Amino acid sequence: MIDPTDIRLDDVVRMRKPHPCGGFEWRVIRLGTDIGARCLTCGRKVLMPRSQFARRVKKIVERKDAGLGMSNP
Ligand SMILES: [Zn+2]
Repeated sequence: MIDPTDIRLDDVVRMRKPHPCGGFEWRVIRLGTDIGARCLTCGRKVLMPRSQFARRVKKIVERKDAGLGMSNP
């Protein structure tokens, strides 16, 4: 299981079980107490508690470079 705190906006994650449409990959579109994600296959959006979301994620497959261009003094 991934760390529930290690989820960032715009991450693409792979779920343990497929969506009914057959897709495994989701993009994080909202962060808060609940996490919003959009299925990359069918475009459906879901909202679920952070802990539940973390349990369903198998791994994070793509992450934008956090802090790019912001680390320079
Ligand atoms: Zn889907």
